[in-house]
Amino acid sequence: MTSIQHNLQQVQQRISRAAEHCGRDRQQITLLAVSKTKPVSDIREAWQAGQRCFGENYVQEGVDKIAQTGDLTDTEWHFIGPLQSNKSRLVAENFHWCHTLDRLKLAQRLNDQRPAALPPLNVLIQVNISDESSKSGIALHDVEGLAAEINALPNLRLRGLMAIPAPEKEYQAQLAVCRQMAEALQTLQAAYPGIDTLSLGMSDDMEAAIEAGSTLVRVGSAIFGARHYPDAAS
Ligand SMILES: *Cc1c(COP(=O)(O)O)cnc(C)c1O
Repeated sequence: MTSIQHNLQQVQQRISRAAEHCGRDRQQITLLAVSKTKPVSDIREAWQAGQRCFGENYVQEGVDKIAQTGDLTDTEWHFIGPLQSNKSRLVAENFHWCHTLDRLKLAQRLNDQRPAALPPLNVLIQVNISDESSKSGIALHDVEGLAAEINALPNLRLRGLMAIPAPEKEYQAQLAVCRQMAEALQTLQAAYPGIDTLSLGMSDDMEAAIEAGSTLVRVGSAIFGARHYPDAAS
């Protein structure tokens, strides 16, 4: 067994144990393998081990990898990095999901650029839950307004919310932040029945995210190993 296969099994077990611990159905939680900076050969290995959903942060890197893995059936590509408006077309044309929608202008561009031959682009509103001025995402109280605007765009399908909480060591502190996101999702669900996704939890906080109600954990280093950043630019 390769280390990626082994790591995937470990992460799957962590997800199952976390779900069991809080009485949630394991089937409700999807593992997104974050392959940013990692070679296509790693993606192939993960696919061989049964992984189908992959996340990329840098537009051009992601588009190149999608092109190089066209032979891998059933893969689902999620764009999870900050998105500049001038790169929106590549996301609209190549990805299945965009997790980092945080402004109307970007939503309009993705809507207009989504090819008619493809199903609507699945989108998540990114929330700046830890209120860090350096991070992207909108404030919780702005979610409702943006959701209404996105909902009116026919080539986008609003699926839920995404957040990258500030790193916290304490489980209870992680849980408290994650619960704020879960509550926001419930509020949104009451208004839009199609909402079903909370993208929350990474290698170091996925247990708390799952206990709070995450339906999609984004895991990179625990699967592919530590990343080395040269000058990763999008
Ligand atoms: C890199 C990244 C991840 C994965 O982080 P790990 O700590 O390696 O699991 C998840 N989500 C986003 C948005 C990322 O940029």
